Amino acid sequence: MDCIFCKIVEGTVPSTKVYEDDNFIVIKDINPQAPVHLLVIPKRHYSTLMDCDERDILGGLIDVAKRVSTEKRLHERGFRLVINTNEEGGQTVFHLHMHILAGRALSGKMG
Ligand code: AMP
Ligand code: ZN
Repeated sequence: MDCIFCKIVEGTVPSTKVYEDDNFIVIKDINPQAPVHLLVIPKRHYSTLMDCDERDILGGLIDVAKRVSTEKRLHERGFRLVINTNEEGGQTVFHLHMHILAGRALSGKMG
């Protein structure tokens, strides 16, 4: 399948990995929107949030985000988690992922 995040998971496209376990990787976003901009990516391909009904993966997205945020002490100042879904939701890569944004006061505007 021609999916950039599947290729990153396979290792055929390079990335800066900050965390990995059996089900997830966390990488640095190539076009950061904040001083800290990470992506939590399930290793298995789900095109969007709506294509994933696995509780361990859905819960794992947040568990992994909390773990990495704790390791990097992002929670002390604060961080934001985002899952863009489909076109008007701003999704551009159709492999489920969650953004972790931190490192500055984030805009109060959500859209
Ligand atoms: P979204 O718009 O929610 O689908 O987010 C996709 C994100 O993936 C964007 O923030 C992109 O900057 C990021 N991205 C795209 N290609 C890469 C890549 N090769 N390595 C790291 N991040 C990427
Ligand atoms: Zn994929």
